[in-house]
Amino acid sequence: MKAVQYRAVGAAPEVVRIPVPAPGPGQVLLRVTAAGLCHSDFAVMSRPAEQLGFPLPLTLGHEGVGTVTEVGDGVTDVAVGDAVAVYGPWGCGTCVKCAEGKENYCLRARELGIFPPGLGAPGAMAEYMIVDSPRHIVPLGGLDPVQAVPLTDAGLTPYHAIKRSLPKLVPGSTAVVIGTGGLGHVAIQLLRELSPAWVIALDVNEEKLALAREVGAHEAILSDAESVGMVRELTGGRGAEAVFDFVGAAPTVAMAGSCVAVEGDVAIVGIGGGSLAVGFGTTPYEVSVTAPYWGSRSELMEVLDLARADVISVHVETYGIDDTPTAYQRLHDGTVRGRAVILPQE
Ligand code: NAD
Ligand code: ZN
Ligand code: ZN
Repeated sequence: MKAVQYRAVGAAPEVVRIPVPAPGPGQVLLRVTAAGLCHSDFAVMSRPAEQLGFPLPLTLGHEGVGTVTEVGDGVTDVAVGDAVAVYGPWGCGTCVKCAEGKENYCLRARELGIFPPGLGAPGAMAEYMIVDSPRHIVPLGGLDPVQAVPLTDAGLTPYHAIKRSLPKLVPGSTAVVIGTGGLGHVAIQLLRELSPAWVIALDVNEEKLALAREVGAHEAILSDAESVGMVRELTGGRGAEAVFDFVGAAPTVAMAGSCVAVEGDVAIVGIGGGSLAVGFGTTPYEVSVTAPYWGSRSELMEVLDLARADVISVHVETYGIDDTPTAYQRLHDGTVRGRAVILPQE
């Protein structure tokens, strides 16, 4: 089968041929219908060898949907032919966090050498993929696979971050979304659907700002030295009750800290290496700052339910598997509108 692999530290992803894997006991084999590209793939591909933590080559893709084609011994709760989405943050299944469905915060994954698909385990950018447990698949329930695949990360991650701040997003409040790419353009829609907040989007690219407006941002403004002043002005000096930073670089994190309101939330979702000092006189009173990671299994179900209710729609660009390197180049150049999705069967 064809697969997109990161094969050597520093090398560009390559389309290669590898054997179709066979599901071991308890595992599920999917025929992949769609796989999403995420900016985090670059974070993995820019790590030095000693920080990688798993061997190469790695089949990429941590957003996947597919059809069950074979199940390993002992698997009884999924059937061949089921259309499913992969819950990516694989955990041990037994620690207290996993018991809560929060496998994204599994306490033992590292110790047990458990990695998400495409981030250590073989991922979704291939004609077939192994899911290590039926626990990590969720029924698609009639959703279009191409539309649904980004929901497993570009939907789930902002959903998890936003859900926590909903009590603060009351009428008259403001939410700021920094970076309106794959995650950000879904975040705007989630905020509009789940809260009455005024939504201000920031990006460095005019086309992304146009997309932000199209998907529901009340204001979409260039992200630069003026942005903090603009947010303050648009909020009557108050600042934003919640700031979601989908870039996470030093300048955007600083911006987030400067435009958040008293008692507001800052979520650093982007993994751009920035950090925000919190302290008396450094941040407004009682601001809370978090760096959330992905989301829980039940939250994925909730996001899929929202999509079924037709209230969020992901903008996608599709590519055949052979064109994955082009898709990565476009993502790298910041020219993908919404999410790039690979169709491995084409
Ligand atoms: P993307 O490339 O689709 O979108 C990033 C957007 O940020 C682009 O529109 C770009 O123009 C914009 N941008 C770049 N610099 C900016 C700046 N200074 N100010 C404002 N906007 C700026 O990326 P994505 O796939 O949506 O991922 C977003 C970030 O979230 C990445 O850092 C990714 O690694 C991270 N991520 C984190 C998690 C998590 O669980 N914490 C999950 C998925 C992705
Ligand atoms: Zn991701
Ligand atoms: Zn666990």
